[in-house]
Amino acid sequence: MVVNASELPPEDYYDYIIVGGGTAGCPLAATLSQSFRVLVLERGGAGSENPNLMNQEGFLSNLLNAETEDSPAQAFISEEGVPNARGRVLGGSSAINAGFYSRAHRDFFLKSGLPWDLALVNRSYQWVEKEIVFRPNLKTWQSAVRDGLLEAGVTPYNGFTLDHAKGTKIGGSTFDTSGTRHTSADLLRHARSSNIKVAVHATVERLLLAGSTAIGALYRDQMGGHHHAFLREHGEVILSAGAIGSPQLLLLSGIGPRPYLSSWGIPVAHHLPYVGHFLYDNPRNGITILPSLPLDHSLIQVVGITDSGAYIEAASNVIPFTSPRHTTFVRSPLYLTVATIISKISGPLSAGFLRLASTDVDANPRVRFNYFINPLDLERCVNGTRKIAQILRSRALKDFKFSNWFGEPDFRFIGPALPLHQTDYTRMADFCRRTVSTIWHYHGGCVVGRVVDPTLKVIGVDSLRIVDGSVFSVSPGTNPQATLMMLGRYALCLSLFHCVFFSCLTINHRALILQVFWVEDYQRKERILILGSMFLFQIVNVTVDCQTCRKHQSFAFTFLFLLYMKRGCIFKFIRGSFLQ
Ligand SMILES: Cc1cc2nc3c(=O)[nH]c(=O)nc-3n(C[C@H](O)[C@H](O)[C@H](O)COP(=O)(O)OP(=O)(O)OC[C@H]3O[C@@H](n4cnc5c(N)ncnc54)[C@H](O)[C@@H]3O)c2cc1C
Repeated sequence: MVVNASELPPEDYYDYIIVGGGTAGCPLAATLSQSFRVLVLERGGAGSENPNLMNQEGFLSNLLNAETEDSPAQAFISEEGVPNARGRVLGGSSAINAGFYSRAHRDFFLKSGLPWDLALVNRSYQWVEKEIVFRPNLKTWQSAVRDGLLEAGVTPYNGFTLDHAKGTKIGGSTFDTSGTRHTSADLLRHARSSNIKVAVHATVERLLLAGSTAIGALYRDQMGGHHHAFLREHGEVILSAGAIGSPQLLLLSGIGPRPYLSSWGIPVAHHLPYVGHFLYDNPRNGITILPSLPLDHSLIQVVGITDSGAYIEAASNVIPFTSPRHTTFVRSPLYLTVATIISKISGPLSAGFLRLASTDVDANPRVRFNYFINPLDLERCVNGTRKIAQILRSRALKDFKFSNWFGEPDFRFIGPALPLHQTDYTRMADFCRRTVSTIWHYHGGCVVGRVVDPTLKVIGVDSLRIVDGSVFSVSPGTNPQATLMMLGRYALCLSLFHCVFFSCLTINHRALILQVFWVEDYQRKERILILGSMFLFQIVNVTVDCQTCRKHQSFAFTFLFLLYMKRGCIFKFIRGSFLQ
């Protein structure tokens, strides 16, 4: 199923071409392949040959080695000077991330602009979770921070849960109990292998368009050879290249603000003013200490969900220091343990933008996140850092202190300590601005309502959708990967006309009704007809078994079937149904 792009023919035809085999792209591909011929184009390698990707201990090394041309993590720096990274490997950023797994908060479903059916959302999350989510074993630092959070009033204690719940909880992890990483690429196990090709080292240079209709993608293999992937009738190109990759590819393909594209000499295929706008990054602020006790390596396992717009998480890292090459004194490696407590703000509200730095797709675009430009973000950061101060004062953390010059226990900070006067808003706000870094949860750039419609279709362009973090204007809950994988599974139901039948077959009326309202292809008359027959269908389903009901049921099916045929989508129906 996974092939090197250089082995693929120069030209081929597919029902769905997915650009980016990342966090959302892999579950989407696995789901679509049940009934359609799918091609996934991933610019990175398969990843499995890289031991650093497969365990927690490799987390920092991956980020530190993110500069090379083909490293699985690709480094980029925002215009504010904040270093950041994105995945360049099958599994995308889920293959280089800290593995924490937590579902979105309820507000996200209300505010995202997408028509969610929460029962289906739940089933889609579960589909991901049974495959790649584990309950972590808390060791010293995570347990101490959990207790510190509770002492600092981040209550109630919710124990282990994947749900977003105010208070303190242990979340899921994509590292299993032996410390091995699982990624969204594992979900490809559910793909129908006869229907799917996953091409690695396949860098998409641009989308192929005929007028304002996507007809395929142009990609380059490792040897520099070019390939054309074309759509079959009724097929779609789906961008899942992430919050940096998707807006970049739209711009390179001539979809974006006309004057801007013209300034780069890119022929304009479709004027879409907000491509690359509304780009967000959740700022990370916090402290790092040198603990007085040796600690195990731990990535995020516990989270404090405060009611003041801040989430508190923690990690402990064992950093190897190899001896300087020419020294005659120390030859064995030295290790340093550092422990961090960080705060991430919800939202955020401050928005930035993405611009091209080059017409070469391999070059990172320019990004600016405008951290804290909205005063509410700054206030949330101050609340979060004050909460960290409370945790540092808790009994749970006293064992990690050293004795200072006066024999009093104190923390040994690496980097800036929190301001002494924590009630002073100005000083705390200054700390937030001065120490801002990223928690890598950047999103947006192709947000719903501006670049894509609520079915994730690119506004004004046919046969083109986007399914990844670029469509979000709010980060979903404490950590986004759970919701992005869920979206990959669920997107089918948001986006495809086929979903009408999926909804009928699974007797999911709410999903159907949402579809009928959102799918642009319907005429008003058709919406009324479909809703009418669904009303009938609903009556049939709430009634007990009887002959007449069965007749009504088959009538409703036949009626919808005919409508479907009229749209020329019958072949999709015949090929089966999804998400069973
Ligand atoms: C270091 C780090 C730590 C993180 N920790 C956590 C965590 O603990 N928990 C959590 O929930 N979230 C975490 N995140 C965030 C989370 O991993 C991301 O938000 C999420 O994975 C993004 O998913 P996506 O599908 O939008 O994009 P991605 O997963 O990044 O997928 C995009 C894919 O598209 C490919 N692509 C891009 N351009 C092209 C092109 N032109 N041609 C072909 N392929 C292309 C990329 O190579 C990539 O594989 C972390 C992120 C990072 C970077």
